[in-house]
Amino acid sequence: MTRKPHVLVLGGNFAGLATAQRIREYAGDAARITLIDRRDYLLYNPNIPVDIFENRDPELHERMPLRPVLHEEDINFIQGEVRELDVDSQTVSFIPNERPGGESEKEHYDYLVIAVGARLAYDRIEGFAEHGHTLSDFYHGNRLRKYLHEGGYKGGPIAIGSARFHQGDGAEGLEPYPGGSIPVAEAACEGPPLEATMAMASWLKEHNKGTPDRITVFTPAEVIAEDAGLGNVKQFLELAGGMGIRYRNKTIDVKRITAEGIEFKNGPSLEAELKIVLPDWVAHDFLRDLPISDSEGFVKTDLFMRNPDYRNVFAAGDCAAVTVPKIGGIGHQEADIVARQVAMDLGSLDANEADDPLKPIVFCIGDMGEGKAFYIRSNTWFGGNDEVLKVGRIPFQLKMRYRDLFFLTHGKVPDWGLGLAQFTAEKLFD
Ligand SMILES: Cc1cc2nc3c(=O)[nH]c(=O)nc-3n(C[C@H](O)[C@H](O)[C@H](O)COP(=O)(O)OP(=O)(O)OC[C@H]3O[C@@H](n4cnc5c(N)ncnc54)[C@H](O)[C@@H]3O)c2cc1C
Repeated sequence: MTRKPHVLVLGGNFAGLATAQRIREYAGDAARITLIDRRDYLLYNPNIPVDIFENRDPELHERMPLRPVLHEEDINFIQGEVRELDVDSQTVSFIPNERPGGESEKEHYDYLVIAVGARLAYDRIEGFAEHGHTLSDFYHGNRLRKYLHEGGYKGGPIAIGSARFHQGDGAEGLEPYPGGSIPVAEAACEGPPLEATMAMASWLKEHNKGTPDRITVFTPAEVIAEDAGLGNVKQFLELAGGMGIRYRNKTIDVKRITAEGIEFKNGPSLEAELKIVLPDWVAHDFLRDLPISDSEGFVKTDLFMRNPDYRNVFAAGDCAAVTVPKIGGIGHQEADIVARQVAMDLGSLDANEADDPLKPIVFCIGDMGEGKAFYIRSNTWFGGNDEVLKVGRIPFQLKMRYRDLFFLTHGKVPDWGLGLAQFTAEKLFD
């Protein structure tokens, strides 16, 4: 018997899980697949904000166990902390981490998919621990939920926004659409601050805590959420401004969070009782200074998600240099591309089925409270010409039902699910 090629996937959240499942789908049993993650569950963070505002514990709602889901697809799972990667000897070192004190182990691969996301660097924001809030994970989500719903918030001003993102040079020169590029972002992911701003305005009203003019949304960039398309952003800011929400741009970076508010790199501070901040998204330490990494430690790939120098190394999701902004929707597109490329290398797909390069599309559905949401689809930032914004009850239903479908199908949301969501939001609803 010949040994089957070993595909090793690092990371099992949105990008890693989808890639492993799709490799199995496209390549059948042509490969042995192993996935390593430090956690044995998927963290469905896009719905943490809505849980916070609706006072549900996200820990009980937004977690999908990985082991049974991977077992269904005959994918081996290792719960471990990846520590080192040697692309010349094709080995990954990890520590089994179910109990502290694990020894260092190694796995050899024939194909490697890096999908370890990014490190959300709250530890780089002075004063965050004492005075900051956020909504990116269970711990912080529950801290904010309790602060809001258990009497912590006293009705003062609210600041919501991002620290500066430091993008590397790994996507320079790529042209996803004719004449376009992967632009340089100054914030990693501004959907969550926009969503939190709108949902907070509704929450204040519902709880008789004040009017939307308490809230200031800020961005380090010239324009907030530029990736959503300038026309969409303009409409969005008109909507928010009409509600009384304040807007501050070009803050450059968060310098410090204090009890009184937020100090910015570019000068004037913002007074705030509640400070909700999304940090810099930084690459994991073990990826820095590798021959496959860019100047900030993100993994360099072409638009087929393949490293230009190490052709058996792929990346998908937030850890890839081309993933700008850092959103799961783009990671999902990339997962499919990687799976097709690996299946092609394994002889299971031919080039015309596999060679479909990345054309990033920003898809974002953000809760606005009161049963409403905004829906954004755009590719103009990358050189495309599609830009759609819808606001109302149907996008909210889509956001909630997409999550249900994700859990029901164990992450294998059929493409018709996304197509149907787009059709419903854009054609049936105005
Ligand atoms: C509040 C919030 C709301 C969002 N809402 C949306 C949304 O509505 N739509 C959207 O498209 N995007 C949204 N995003 C962005 C989205 O969450 C990310 O883009 C997405 O999670 C990236 O997926 P990923 O698999 O690349 O990385 P991650 O989700 O970060 O997963 C990385 C995985 O790798 C594992 N890992 C990391 N390092 C190691 C290591 N050393 N060893 C072992 N395992 C490791 C982690 O445990 C994790 O499971 C939101 C983000 C936030 C914070």
